[in-house]
Amino acid sequence: MPEKVIIIGSGPAAWTSAIYAARASLEPLVFEGAITEENRLAGTLPLGQLALTTEVENYPGFPAGDLESYLDNAMEKSKRQIMPPHAKQGVSGPELMELMRQQAVNFGTRVITDDVVEVDFDGHPFKLTTFEGKVHEALAVIVATGAKANYLGLPSEETYKNRGVSACAVCDGALPRFRNKPLVVIGGGDSAVEEADYLTKFASTVYMVHRRDQLRASKIMAQRAIDHAKIDIQWNRTLGEVLGNDADGVTGVRLKSTAGEPDLELEATGVFLAIGHTPNTAFLDGKLEMTEKKYIQWTTPGRTYTSVEGVFAAGDVADDYYRQAVTAAGSGCMAALDAERWLAAKGL
Ligand code: NAP
Repeated sequence: MPEKVIIIGSGPAAWTSAIYAARASLEPLVFEGAITEENRLAGTLPLGQLALTTEVENYPGFPAGDLESYLDNAMEKSKRQIMPPHAKQGVSGPELMELMRQQAVNFGTRVITDDVVEVDFDGHPFKLTTFEGKVHEALAVIVATGAKANYLGLPSEETYKNRGVSACAVCDGALPRFRNKPLVVIGGGDSAVEEADYLTKFASTVYMVHRRDQLRASKIMAQRAIDHAKIDIQWNRTLGEVLGNDADGVTGVRLKSTAGEPDLELEATGVFLAIGHTPNTAFLDGKLEMTEKKYIQWTTPGRTYTSVEGVFAAGDVADDYYRQAVTAAGSGCMAALDAERWLAAKGL
């Protein structure tokens, strides 16, 4: 018997669609991803990008405060112990994801810790092949595999991830370590300007480091960065090394020149990468219509439909614009409702 709904992914979009699908008696099966070294290095382990962040202060329902006893009641002790301590500043990213996963499981969602590596959407039921080589059939599929932030791949970047190196100012910018200190943003696109602008609320100075002498960002955004008193653009520079130590985490950066100038060292307590994201869609190449940047194309405004009837997409895998936990969760809900209605309309 084919599954009614298979959900691929394990971020806010995936778990929200699982909660809704389970409550609609669709008995969803979630492939949450495999725990492999390759996935660790790529930032695509189960529980998604939020599991790579620290505090989450902008997800409604989790205000800063003492959530300790609530969280102790809501999830297994072992899950709590693996979490980074969040100093009672609200919920942490990994905790929020464990809570969403648990909520989906509580309604009967089944979870397999494996990746879907190949899909066959030509026939119906759809066929999905896992990393372990098993084939599963489904009447409807929700793709919610998210995206991963691009990093430069420097060893020092890896060393200080979560200790000053981040790819999400909105997630991490307000942390105490970044307050009234110089910060660095790498990139010259709209995201870099947005991140830099956002960080000026907390930082003493934001150095925007761009590899050319002209920003890629739209004119209005670029001008905002150029005019901002707290943003200091370092033109023709790239990140050579993140400087730091065990006790303090990030303490600065060494910037290389793309114009033949000597290296430059700057003090900073944070380095934010804003050099784009890559959607996790490689396994869907040629199977679904994609945008130029390989995000899944939603084919109908206000719906989560894709180019294949019965296959729906939710969250960052189809959204390179908002990229927030709450918007991903919202589109996960939409995808489950879309799948439920599609199955009912087809009499499946
Ligand atoms: P993006 O437009 O692709 O910009 C990426 C930036 O990172 C570019 O400046 C690029 O430099 C730089 N970069 C890439 N690889 C690099 C490397 N290895 N070393 C150093 N620098 C590197 O990505 P984005 O800013 O994330 O924006 C994505 C999309 O979302 C865009 O369409 C954007 O307009 C949109 N967006 C809109 C808003 C808004 O309107 N409020 C906000 C955010 C994003 P080069 O310029 O030299 O290539």
